[in-house]
This record gives sequence, structure tokens and C-alpha cells, in this order.
Amino acid sequence: GSHSESLLRVSRPVHNAVFAYVPPETSPNPKVLAVSSYAVQDLELDPEESKTEAFAHVFAGNKILEGTRPWALCYAGHQFGQFAGQLGDGRAISLFETVSSKGDKFELQLKGAGRTPFSRFGDGLAVLRSSIREFLVSEHMYALGVPTTRSLALTATGKRVYRQDAPPEAKQPERGATVARMAPSWLRFGNFEIFFSRGDMENVRNLADYAIENVLPEEKGTEEGNKYERFFTRVTKRTAKMVAEWQSIGFCHGVMNTDNMSILGLTLDYGPFQILDFYDPENICNHSDHTGMYSFKRQPTVCVLNLFKLSIPLFELIGAGDAADSIVYPIKGRDDLELTSKETLDAYREAGREKVTKILTNDFSDWFMADLTEKMRSKLGFTNSNKDDMDDIVIPLLDWLTEYAVDYHSFFRSLADYPITDAGEDQDTKKALETLSIVTQDPGVLEDSKSQLKTWLSIYRHRLLEEGPEKYGDKRKRMNRVNPRFVLRNWIAQDVVNAFEDLSDEEARGVLDSCLKACVDPFEDNYEDQRIEKWINTGVPEWGVDLKCSCSS
Ligand code: AMP
Ligand code: MG
Ligand code: MG
Repeated sequence: GSHSESLLRVSRPVHNAVFAYVPPETSPNPKVLAVSSYAVQDLELDPEESKTEAFAHVFAGNKILEGTRPWALCYAGHQFGQFAGQLGDGRAISLFETVSSKGDKFELQLKGAGRTPFSRFGDGLAVLRSSIREFLVSEHMYALGVPTTRSLALTATGKRVYRQDAPPEAKQPERGATVARMAPSWLRFGNFEIFFSRGDMENVRNLADYAIENVLPEEKGTEEGNKYERFFTRVTKRTAKMVAEWQSIGFCHGVMNTDNMSILGLTLDYGPFQILDFYDPENICNHSDHTGMYSFKRQPTVCVLNLFKLSIPLFELIGAGDAADSIVYPIKGRDDLELTSKETLDAYREAGREKVTKILTNDFSDWFMADLTEKMRSKLGFTNSNKDDMDDIVIPLLDWLTEYAVDYHSFFRSLADYPITDAGEDQDTKKALETLSIVTQDPGVLEDSKSQLKTWLSIYRHRLLEEGPEKYGDKRKRMNRVNPRFVLRNWIAQDVVNAFEDLSDEEARGVLDSCLKACVDPFEDNYEDQRIEKWINTGVPEWGVDLKCSCSS
């Protein structure tokens, strides 16, 4: 129909540029629903300012700040393993960059602010339900210590948005919203892939130089290779760290396409994500992921595959060593250039492929395992490291959690109270089995799960004793700083979404505010807000088990 034709007209291939200038659409009646006070603080904004009309108009896209010119990025990506061509920011528009007095850089971006040259068939908008989820989880992940993009504000735009495959409970049309997001940079693996796919190596190198200079500058250390190899190494290290954090907190991303991978190793583009309730390595949170390509246990592998996709455009530059800067690539309108020969480039590419293979086959798994082991040790309350910790303690525990589908977070939280007393092992184990939070998805296996845990508890106890009383004596405080008491489970996020359907906005904002408070302060022993206590103590309701989200956001 004419509607989709007009959409096609604004969607166009963009060559020789990493971005296009595009003003956000205006919103008829913007209403700020929530602001992250932590983000306000990090931006060094006056908290009073975030309550003003002016703030609402800037972060609804109505007012463009003087001296700024909003833009959208052009990128490609591999989606579920297939190269998808030009994607780009189809519904995200960056407003401006700012630097705090501490030197922290933030690029402020509106998600859901209307069409861009990269919108393809989409409307450029976002619905309230998915915006609530992204707003909350960004700040939650940050509080949990996971590298992530942030969110500043959630705004209802007053627009009406239609989604063909909306969940049945969503009333049509749905409410539109924007999330004001922030990150030091929004560059993705796909920004490199787009130029490479067009044979535009000049711009691959330009972009890599930009990223090295401005986004991921050199760090001290003894990294090998030329600056492009060192850059790729840094991206790899950060990605390994990110996914180690994901695996240790039970986070499933759901759409690990290369256009959703940040070169800063930040968790990016929250869609059908899920934080596990019952531990399940096979968990698939995206209900369009029919083969489980992005299942929980595959996430580290997918990171390697995605890093490999990022490396392909960089092979030549990495393999060229000191000659990388003097490669002469074709430039449009410059027939006078003496180009580097095809044979030379082939040789560089081969050398680069070899270096990348080494980084991805050896180094990635070393970094990932080191990060994961360290994180799991701290979750278990250990302060020193024992080389057998992974094999003897972590893996057997994960096997047990899997076997009985035990609630991951409440178990770890309760482990801080594991007693070591003069009464001895038998008595302590008995006590532990009474006080540990063992919530199995199937209540029928609860007793069995407890008797099967005894051996592990015994090994755990001996490992704690090795640490010495001064260490295991104050493990509780230490562990409660790494094992969250509150996690943003899918059903809790859904509870907040439902509030905006069932209650007045005023009341719903109260629910959203409670949830935000818990998200940014997830280690609290006792929340004053009884709504939060109820979320924690209720346990997963029947309707919330295996709650999956669609991508129709
Ligand atoms: P995602 O799966 O959310 O990472 O999106 C994949 C691509 O589709 C990106 O290029 C998005 O910008 C684009 N996209 C998703 N939803 C919309 C929408 N409603 N309007 C325009 N583009 C969209
Ligand atoms: Mg995306
Ligand atoms: Mg399951």
C-alpha cells in the first residue's frame, strides 16, 4: 500500500559514510515516565533539570540543542549467521556527545525517535513495553557490574504504534516510547562489515583509525602486533569479559547478531533478553530462535564467531604489520594512485587470518575462563584461587543446578549463610539444608535435590576451611555484594509493563519507580519498599515460568 511505499522511499543505501544526519521526529505529548538518577549523576546534570519540561522535550526529540546535529549510524550485520546487508540505526538517533569532568564520554541517543535512512520496512518507533524493559535492564546490568550501555530516561511519546505480532495481551494500538540511552560509543562490529562488504577498504581503515584514536585507545601492556592487531585484541578481551559476566549472572541476550555487538564489549540492544530464573544451559529466550543458535550455553561460542566476523575486514590491516598505513586503496575520483598489488594484499590477508585465529582459539578462551572463574569464586565467597576450583566446585554445582532446575539467584544469595560452626560438618550440613534457598522448578524433585547436594556441600566446606577463619568468617558480607538479592526477572518486568495497561499512569509510575530502585540497588538485604520485598519473596508465579518475549518491539 501507499504507506509502505513511502517507507521504502526513505530507506536507502548510504555509501562512503558511517552515518547520516537525521533529525528525530517530534512527539505530540511527551511524558517522562522515569529518569535514572545514577545516569543523571554520571552526566553531571542537575537533578532538578531532569524534572523540567525542557528535559522532556529534548529527550522526546522535540528540541534539538543548539550547536548539535543528530545522526544515525550505518552498519551491516550477520543475523542468525546470515549476512543481512545494510541495517543501520533504523530507530535510534544520536543527539550529541558530552564529556564529564572526570573525562567519561557519553553519546546520548534516542531509541524510538522515528525513521532514518536505515529504517527499511520499520516505522522507527518503539513500544512502551519493550522500552520499559530496556530502560530497566540497562541500569540493572550496570549495577550488577556487567559492561553495558546505559539509560537516562524513559519517555512516553503520545504516539500510537501498531505491531502485527504483538503479544495477545497488548492492546492495539500500543503506546509509543523512547529510551534515552548512553554509551561512550555506539560503534558495532557491523560498522566494519558494511564497508568491507562493499569492497571499501579505505573506509574500513579510516573507521579502525577513528576507533583506535577515539573509542578504544591504546592501553599499557605488552600487546603484540601493529595497532590494528592490538585493537582487535582489546575488542576480544572486552568481549570475553562481557560474556563471562553474562554467564555468571545467568543473562541471556537472545539476539547476538553482529550488529548487536559493541566494539567496546558493552551489552547492547536489549530485546528478548532474559535473566534466568531456574538454571538451564539450554535456555532460549528469543522465541524466534528456533534452533537455539543463541541459547544461554552457546553465548561464549557465538562471541568467538562474531569476533571472527569482525576480524575479516581487518585481516589485511592486521597482517600488513608496519606496512598497514602505507597500503594504497582505491579512492573514487583518484585515478592517479598507485595501488597496492593484489598479491601483496593476499599475503597480508593470510598473515592476518593466522594472527586472528591464534587470538580467537587460544587467547579468547583463556581470558573468558579467567574472568568466569574469578567471578564464580567471588560468588562462592572464596578470596584466594585454587586451580581446581572450576573442575571441583563450580562445574559440579552448575550440574546440580541444571539437573534439578534450581533457582539460580536465590540459591547463590542464600549460600552466604552457609554455616561453619563448632557443631561440626554433619550438624552444619543439616542446618544448611534447612536454610539454603533451594527452589526447584518442579517441586517434586526438591527432596531428591537436597540429598544430592550433600557431597557438594562437603567439598565446599573443605574449600572454605582452607581459606582460614578470618576469611570464611566474613564471607557473608562479601558474597552479598556479588550475589544479588533482586534480579530483573522476566515476570517482574512484565509486572511493570502490565501496570501501565491496568492502572493509571500515576500509579504505574509508582510500580516502575519501585522496580528501578531495586534494579539499581540489587544487593540490598532488606528493602523498605514492600513492593520490592514482594517481588523477591513471591517466587516465580506460574504465568511467569518460561515467559518469553517476542521481538515485535
Ligand atoms: P534489532 O533486532 O532490534 O537489533 O534490529 C535489527 C535492525 O532492525 C536494526 O537495524 C534496527 O535499527 C532495525 N529495526 C528494528 N525495529 C525497527 C523499527 N521499528 N523501525 C525501524 N527499524 C527497526
Ligand atoms: Mg540492534
Ligand atoms: Mg526452562
